[in-house]
Amino acid sequence: MKLRFLGTGTSTGVPQIMCNCPTCQSRDERDRRLRCSAMVTYKDKNILIDCGPDFRQQMLESGSPSLEALLITHSHYDHVGGVDDLRPYCAMGDGFPIYCRADVAGDLRDRVPYCFAEVPYPGVPAFNITEITTKPFVVADLEVIPLPVMHHRLPIVGFKMDNLAYITDAKKIPDSTLELIRGIDTLVINGLRIKDHISHMNLQQALDVIAEVKPRVAYITHISHDMGPYAEASLRLPDGVRLAYDGLVIHIPDQFDQDENN
Ligand SMILES: [Zn+2]
Ligand SMILES: [Zn+2]
Ligand SMILES: [Zn+2]
Repeated sequence: MKLRFLGTGTSTGVPQIMCNCPTCQSRDERDRRLRCSAMVTYKDKNILIDCGPDFRQQMLESGSPSLEALLITHSHYDHVGGVDDLRPYCAMGDGFPIYCRADVAGDLRDRVPYCFAEVPYPGVPAFNITEITTKPFVVADLEVIPLPVMHHRLPIVGFKMDNLAYITDAKKIPDSTLELIRGIDTLVINGLRIKDHISHMNLQQALDVIAEVKPRVAYITHISHDMGPYAEASLRLPDGVRLAYDGLVIHIPDQFDQDENN
């Protein structure tokens, strides 16, 4: 399995409009962060996680890959603002498959009501929404396990797929979710900045979760300019923890391979 970080920035993206801080002025490509999204590839099929306002650019920069489905963590604009741009993917039979919680499905109907009209305007994107709970579901032959987490007071989900756990926009991870990901190979987790924040983990809180879960490797995502430039901020990280950056592709060994080695 493979994961491509399509966007690793917080809701404003990095650089931030009208900011002259060292991160926003950095010439390091790794300090240019689009809104948070990722694409998982399993058996040559691509599954998108979140579809923010930079989705179109992210697809073009990734070579316009095919997509099997979209999994949505929650309905904040930086995670769903690009759904109208899914249009090229909506030609499939019953519409483009989207998997999300019921509250997110409701929010989508409010955000892009024309996509759900009884008689849709010609050419609007057609979506086929499956509402998820905490139960595992299957997308393109891959079992996906929702990971409930709290985004301040908003219950949202991360996703576990084989040996990968992807959690963004979490402030608190309940014990029951930690149990699901303990010892996982690859953990992607949000870490906004050094200072505390009401609805996101800061770097230390993310590191505390990583220390508890003990993945082989962890990647921090949903990063704000306040984290500091990539080259400097990376020096603060313990072994096995890295800052993600846009365009980074990581390979996740599947559980079957690991079992074979045991
Ligand atoms: Zn976000
Ligand atoms: Zn800045
Ligand atoms: Zn959010």
